[in-house]
Parts: sequence; structure tokens; C-alpha cells
Amino acid sequence: MKEKIWLSSPHMGGNEQNYINEAFQENWIAPLGPNVSGLENDLQKYLTQEGTGNIEVAALSSGTAALHLALILLGVERGDEVICQSMTFAASANPIAYLGATPVFIDSEEDTLNLSPAYLEEAIKDRMAKGKKPKAIIAVHLYGMPYKVDEIHSIAGKYEIPVIEDSAEALGSSYKGRKCGTFGEIAILSFNGNKIITTSGGGALVSRNEAIKKKAVFLATQARDDAPHYQHSEIGYNYRMSNICAGIGRGQMEVLDQRVQQRRSMNAFYNQLFSDFEGLTVHNEPNNNYFCNHWLTVISFDANSGKFSGEGLRKHMEKENIESRPLWKPMHMQPVFSNAPFYGRLTAENLFENGLCLPSGSNLSEEDKGRITESIQQYFK
Ligand SMILES: *Cc1c(COP(=O)(O)O)cnc(C)c1O
Repeated sequence: MKEKIWLSSPHMGGNEQNYINEAFQENWIAPLGPNVSGLENDLQKYLTQEGTGNIEVAALSSGTAALHLALILLGVERGDEVICQSMTFAASANPIAYLGATPVFIDSEEDTLNLSPAYLEEAIKDRMAKGKKPKAIIAVHLYGMPYKVDEIHSIAGKYEIPVIEDSAEALGSSYKGRKCGTFGEIAILSFNGNKIITTSGGGALVSRNEAIKKKAVFLATQARDDAPHYQHSEIGYNYRMSNICAGIGRGQMEVLDQRVQQRRSMNAFYNQLFSDFEGLTVHNEPNNNYFCNHWLTVISFDANSGKFSGEGLRKHMEKENIESRPLWKPMHMQPVFSNAPFYGRLTAENLFENGLCLPSGSNLSEEDKGRITESIQQYFK
């Protein structure tokens, strides 16, 4: 069996181990220490641009934990409703359920595969007419592609609903020159093993408001009041990132720009490879306002692609030990969310039926690309 080609696998830069060694030498093994604040500083510097104001980052144990805290910080409680993009990873929606709130799912539009502005506004109006104004909107930059930032934030502003920007897949992407992770009331990042950079497991909460960062860190460290004994006036969580994981993150931040270039060059490779193929689309930036890190390259087959399909290609590549994966199955199609309201039509469902994510790692070699090319060309023969 040939060696496995992964969809997206960790890609170390080289310096990660040095930061971890330092942590061992100083016995900073706890979820506290110089790597945690070092990674936070690196991310703050990376995300702060002219016009953004100071960006504040809290390093946490996962992107899911960051979403959970974001919802709490925005006051979401049992019985509330929270709007969420339907086509996404379950971690975008699960924290809504942790709080006993109800997700309201919204279809995608075809330019970015993300939140449809039209259905978003329809849903807000309808939920308000039914007596409940949604408490927050979770918008996702799926596969690194920025959502329609201007449209989504203008609707959110009109109804005064805060946006949680799920930027788990979009570190390094930008919209009109401004980095993803800086648009939402609160944004979240993920450094899980398959993301564009990784801390093995980890995430971050991002905000322009220092008080929000402080409150996030407070909640993430068991909500301990200022007292010599352990005193608590609020329910807390154990959500802080460890100093070891943060060391990996510091090394990864040194190569982030390189990783973005490498993923983008994988996307260029697929655009070239499929340039002669009819009956399928490689998803690209709709126009120059969008800069996508191309965390994963996505293709979708036309409805009339005959005997060819995403699932057919996936199975074909699997035989060659090449991993590809269907797009995220929309949340409104998931058994666990079958009772949640949904606004939209069939865009997300069709993308799920006809799409495929191709191996997109920054560490794929020329030989890997050769195997991928051969396998794909063979499928269409
Ligand atoms: C990975 C991911 C998350 C969750 O991040 P974890 O660090 O794995 O908890 C949330 N949303 C999206 C869109 C993701 O891809």
C-alpha cells in the first residue's frame, strides 16, 4: 500500500520543539506561562491592523470552548435563539445546545458557500414576528473563504444582533484587506490538528474589547474571585490553553504566512488540473475583495455530471490511499438538530450532495501531487 495522502495534516515549522523545551526547563507545564502570553501576543500582533484598534486574544483549550464562552459573554441563556450557518462543522452549533438555547439554521449562498444574507434577514424577521429576537448570529468563514462580510454585518447592525465570527478555518484569510477574526463582536480561532496551523489541540477567543478578553480568561480558569481561598460567584470552566500547547503555537505562528501560501498553491494546482474538465467547479474567491487561505480546496460537480460524482471520486481516490472528504453535512440535516428551525432552500444540501474536499495540506510533495493528478485523471477516463 502506498503511503497515505491526508486531507490536511499537521505541518511543523521547526521551532515548536524549542518553545516546548524552554517550558520544560522552566517547569512551565501548567496552563499558564510565557508561551501562553507569547502566543496571545503573536496573534494580537498578527490580527491588529490599521483601523482595527487593538485586538485582544485569549488562548483557550479549543475553538469549541471559545464558542461556548463567546455565547456566555453575549448573554445567551436557556430558551434563547441563536442563528447559525447550517453548512458548518457541528462545533459551530453544539455550544448553543450546551446553554439550552435553540439554534436557528440558515442556508448558504453559492458565491462563498457561507451564510445567505437573504435568508438571514428573512429568519430574523420571522423569529421576531414569532416573538423572539435572536440573541446572536454565528457566521462561519468555511474552508477559509470569508463570508459576505459587508452584507452580513449590515443586516446584523440593522437589527442590533451581535455576530460571533467563527474563523476556525480562516486564520490568514482576509476581506477587503482586513483579516478574518477581526469582524465579529467576538471571533474564535481553532488550532486543532487539521487546521492551517495547530497547537495539537487549542483555540482562541478574539475581541476588540479588553474587558471581554479579561472576562473570557476569568471564566476559562474556573471563575475564581479575588481572594486567598477559592471563592466563586459565577460558574466557571477549565478552558485555558496549556503552556506546552502554546509553545507549539508560537512555532507555528512563525510559519503561518508560509502555510497560507502553500495552501493557496495547492488550490492553484487544482485549478490548473481541472481547467480542462467540464461538469465541475473549483470554488474560488468570488472577486478581489476576498483573500482565502484555501485551508481546503472544494470542488462541486454539476447536477448533470452523469456518471461522475463527488462520492465516486472520493471512493476512487480512497483506493489509492488518498484521503478526500464530503463537504460538512448541513446542521439542519443532522438527526441531532432535526427539530431546529431552518430558513433557506437547497443550496447547502446540493453542495453536500455534489461537493468534495480535496487533499490540501501545506506539506504535500511534488510526488504526492503526481499521485493525486494520476488518480483524478484516471477517474475521468
Ligand atoms: C474546527 C472547527 C471548530 C472547532 O474547533 P476545535 O478547536 O476543534 O474545537 C469550530 N468551527 C469550525 C468551522 C471548525 O472547522
